[in-house]
Amino acid sequence: SLSPLNLKFNNTYAHFLPEISASVQATAFSNANWLIKSSDVDTLLTNRQINSSSLTTDIALNWFAGIDTHPSAQPVAQKYTGHQFGQYNPQLGDGRGLLLGEIETDNGRFDIHVKGAGQTPFSRFGDGRAVVRSSIREFLGSEALHYLGIPTSRALGVFTTGESVQRETIEPGAALIRVCPSHLRFGHFEYAYHQGDTDLQAQLVKYCLYQVLPQQHIDLAQLQQWQASEAKVSLAQEAQLMYRFIIRRTAEMIAKWQAFGFCHGVMNTDNMSVLGITFDYGPFGFLDKYNPKHICNHSDHNGRYAFDEQPGVALWNLNVLGHALSNLMPEAAIREELEKYEPHILATYSELMRTKLGLTKHKTEDRALLGELLAIMQVNQTDYTITWRTLSEISDFDQHQQRFVDLFLNREQARTWLKKYQTRLNFEPLSQNERSEAMCRVNPKYILRNYLAQQAIKEAEKGQLQKLNELYQILKTPYKEQPEFSDYAKHPPSWAEELSISCSS
Ligand code: AMP
Ligand code: MG
Ligand code: MG
Repeated sequence: SLSPLNLKFNNTYAHFLPEISASVQATAFSNANWLIKSSDVDTLLTNRQINSSSLTTDIALNWFAGIDTHPSAQPVAQKYTGHQFGQYNPQLGDGRGLLLGEIETDNGRFDIHVKGAGQTPFSRFGDGRAVVRSSIREFLGSEALHYLGIPTSRALGVFTTGESVQRETIEPGAALIRVCPSHLRFGHFEYAYHQGDTDLQAQLVKYCLYQVLPQQHIDLAQLQQWQASEAKVSLAQEAQLMYRFIIRRTAEMIAKWQAFGFCHGVMNTDNMSVLGITFDYGPFGFLDKYNPKHICNHSDHNGRYAFDEQPGVALWNLNVLGHALSNLMPEAAIREELEKYEPHILATYSELMRTKLGLTKHKTEDRALLGELLAIMQVNQTDYTITWRTLSEISDFDQHQQRFVDLFLNREQARTWLKKYQTRLNFEPLSQNERSEAMCRVNPKYILRNYLAQQAIKEAEKGQLQKLNELYQILKTPYKEQPEFSDYAKHPPSWAEELSISCSS
């Protein structure tokens, strides 16, 4: 059979969780063509032991496009439910995504998931398709976050299907190959709980704890201790350890979103990964002008998922997850774990913001210093990324401070703040040059702005891929000066402000 690659799919999800695995034959897209691929993700997936070769070949494309089936692949759509905009929806699941299988690599086990693979038992009225626009957005978005250092699913590539797909307009079809250690979501636990299926709940907890989490490079000392001692461990203890991990990782992810100005847009519980990775990219966007109330999802009329709501929403979602575990562990244990969320996100966020400011020592006035900067950024509507980067680039206050001051309509406010900042820097051990360099390693020059994605998409839809590839290359080294691409680091043009990103994908 067709397998020149030595690749072998593992199917632990289907094996351990058959009740929430629906076997699906992928729709065959006979005109599939690679649109963009990530050689880095391809490398991430290598396995030297079995000498597997590339997953970005045309042979692999045939598996992803449902033309051929790899002998060891057992494609499944996953059943899960979730809270969408605060309402429980029992009718969810992979409506167009397929878990082709999992592969063991030198870097751990990874799900190979095709988003846009055709209809599944959970498609409801959906066509099972994805379009070029949203597939490119997820490809660029997830890869950009990765290179910024924000935990996220990855993307191996996007292929066009050759189909026309009806959305608000007719759009070219595509599919994305998503790669991450697991696709387990909060919503999986909600489904089991609402079914009243305690066995399934227990299977999920055990699968998550013993199959999924150890694939992460995490310190699960408690788990190792349990395994070494062969002591009898209760399901309540297991659920609590898993929940603790999820809360911790979620807090760290959200802290990063807030520090980088990333807005997810659809923080429904079915879009929350148990790994605390940014997951299920829809109408996401980075802040341009600093507006904490920014809503990136055009369909989010009440601003439930506005930028500054994200930390609270994540806690709300973690509460929902806790509820879905409430018959497995004591309420006090759930509360005990949940209470760790706020201090952890605050500590992580404030540490991130300190590094953004180039501060290594702790002083009580630092919080106010940050608060005042954010306040003048907000009233002057300065660009979030550019403000931080311009501040970082001050390695000589006499020479460079004007560039920072000029970003603000009210220059006096900027000057006053800079004076305080300069005074504060006197307590720091680093030279101005060293501080500036350190800050440039955490304050990106290049982010994926919606208008940049939009331009690349427009061209790609016409078959012109140069802009897309160029943008992807730039986003791989977001902290590095790339003088030949300095236009990409500029303020967005005025037309960009009218861009609205809908949920339709
Ligand atoms: P999302 O808003 O991306 O989290 O999607 C919510 C639900 O709708 C998930 O169960 C998806 O699988 C499903 N879905 C989204 N788009 C489609 C589509 N075109 N066809 C089938 N199901 C879809
Ligand atoms: Mg989703
Ligand atoms: Mg989605």
